[in-house]
Formats: sequence, C-alpha cells, structure tokens
Amino acid sequence: MKTEILRASGNDLSGICLRVKEIWESGGLVAFPTETVYGLGADGLDSTASRRIYAAKNRPSDNPLILHIGDQKDLEPLVQRVTENAEKLMDAFWPGPLTMILPKSSAVPDETSGGLPTVAVRMPSHPVANALLKSVSVPIAAPSANLSGRPSPTKAAHVIEDMNGRIDAIVDGGDVGIGIESTIVDLSQEVPVLLRPGFITMDMLAGVLGEVQVDPAITREAIIGHRTITGAPKAPGMKYRHYAPKAPLTIVTGDPARVAERISSLADDRTAVLAPEEHAAMYTGGQVLTLGRLSEPESIAKALFDVLRKCDAIGARRIYAEDLTSADPGGAVMNRLLKAAGGSFVNVNEL
Ligand code: AMP
Ligand code: MG
Repeated sequence: MKTEILRASGNDLSGICLRVKEIWESGGLVAFPTETVYGLGADGLDSTASRRIYAAKNRPSDNPLILHIGDQKDLEPLVQRVTENAEKLMDAFWPGPLTMILPKSSAVPDETSGGLPTVAVRMPSHPVANALLKSVSVPIAAPSANLSGRPSPTKAAHVIEDMNGRIDAIVDGGDVGIGIESTIVDLSQEVPVLLRPGFITMDMLAGVLGEVQVDPAITREAIIGHRTITGAPKAPGMKYRHYAPKAPLTIVTGDPARVAERISSLADDRTAVLAPEEHAAMYTGGQVLTLGRLSEPESIAKALFDVLRKCDAIGARRIYAEDLTSADPGGAVMNRLLKAAGGSFVNVNEL
C-alpha cells in the first residue's frame, strides 16, 4: 500500500479534511496529530476498520481503542449515560488530554472496546485533530500511531518510520505539544480510578471530582516489582511492555554528580545516556542524549519518546537514564520511563 503524506500547514485545512473524510468513510486508516501523540485513526463504529488498526499496529486484540470526538455532544450516543462526573471533567478538561471510561452503548462494536463492556472517549484540542474529527459524523478510534511496543510517535517522521506502507495516509502537523499519551480515568465505578497518568494529574482530577483512586498496578512500586505484584492493570494496554528501545535500559537514582561519574565509568561508545540538559556536561563517557530541562518539566515529557527512538537510531547496546522524578510531579514521565526500562531502577551505589 502506498501511504499518502498530507501536509497540514497554514490555516486552511479544508482540502485535507475532505481527503481524510473520504478515506475514513471508506474504512481506511489515517494517522493524525493530536496534542498528546500522533493517533492512528479509523471509523470507530466500523468493526472491520477497527480490526485494520490492530493489524497495522500488530496490536493485541484485547487492548481496546480510544474513541476521539470533535464535540462534547458526540459523547452521549457512545455511552449508556453521561454521568455527573463526566460532565464535570468535560467542563474542566475538554477539549484536552483526558480520556474517560464509561459503560458503552450498543453503538460501539466489541472490536473497538476490546470486548469490554466499557468505552474510552476523548475530545482532543489539537486544531488539526479537531478539524478532522468535526468533518466526519462518526467517532474515530485512534490508538497511538506506532507499531505495538515501540515508543509513541511525537513527530510525523516517527509515524512514517513505523507506518509507511501499512496505512492509507499520514497527516503531518509538525511536532506534538505534550508528548505523552492522555490521562485515563475510569468513571464506570463508584469512585473514579486513574488508569494511566498523563498531563492532567491526579491533583487536577481530585480538584474537580473529590475522591480519586489510583489503579495499584500502575504505581512505581508495581512496575519496579513487576514479578511479585499480581493483578492485571485495569487499562489492558498498561500491562504490555511498552515504549521500549531495543537495548536494555536501566534508570539510575542518586546524587547527580555521582550518577554521572558511575555511568561514565561503565559506558562505551555504544552506550546511550539519557540525562537532562543541566547534567549533560558532567558525563565523560557514553553518548549523551539530552532529555529536556529539569527547570522546564514539559520539555522532558515532550522529548521522551523521541529520545527513546534515538537510542535505536544510534545503535545503542546499553542505555542508562537518570531518575527524573524531581521534574515529574504527576508521575507521567516516570511511568513511561519505568515501563521502557521494564522496571529496572537502581540506586547508583548498587550499579
Ligand atoms: P493508546 O491509544 O495506544 O494510548 O492506548 C489506549 C489505552 O487506553 C490502552 O492502555 C487501553 O488499554 C486503554 N483503554 C481503552 N479503552 C479502555 C477501556 N474500556 N477500559 C480500560 N482501558 C481502556
Ligand atoms: Mg499506545
């Protein structure tokens, strides 16, 4: 299959919207930018189109898709009831990087919801995503536009790397703004549960909802101690090895100067070192790939997946990353980094 590249530059998106609508209406697959990461979209009410998404990504079929909508009123037909908590969250955070889980209506096929009785829905704020979603009359199922297991795409070039020849079109809208996937909150139980951390933090959710619980399977302790903790995560996607570069990755915590000294002593030129800009000069060995600035936590989230992909591009055989907890108040970046490391997290004294 030849993949069309559609460049969304300037304000006039009408030509692109027409072409994408045509593809989506005929059951095809189009990747497009959102404010979190690039999504791989298809008609979310068409079970055949949903199956094509799983095939293009090599995604396990029990890992449900998020439905993307262009307007708050598009939520109602997809769920059994728009609850009071859903109303509150929509008012506070939509359009934006928040996904809500609610009991699904019969309009949503099992292929889209991974066989679950619930459905995940989000209204993105990215102007290109919003224009595309408004141009069609159906919700668009769109997981991240990467091959399953690889880091999520934050640039059109990442999507081309993984999806060229596998999908109908890619809308190039430049680099995304946030760089990590949406926060997921489950509203299908009595007390809302955070299933995936993201830009919208636990504190922001609690400010609107009052009590919010955290799925115990997504905590740092659970990811680090993955062999001993039982119980699958409630968001099926969180159980898979994720975001992972090819080489083994270890996160090292401790005094930054000591961390830099120890990693430098172990590193050779096939070792990638992931460090914030403020610490880069302390390394005397390995290939340092800078990962944003500690003084600007958003820059770290934005750089993360690109840097994980670069580890493969430079042919790294070993990767060390600094512990970035101090610049990650909501825990979203460390959640991804810990998963990419397969839970490998050590104190510098044990390295
Ligand atoms: P992605 O779009 O690639 O970021 O993946 C979507 C994430 O949403 C995965 O982790 C899914 O497991 C999760 N998800 C989607 N639908 C549901 C649902 N009904 N219940 C729980 N998690 C869901
Ligand atoms: Mg994904």
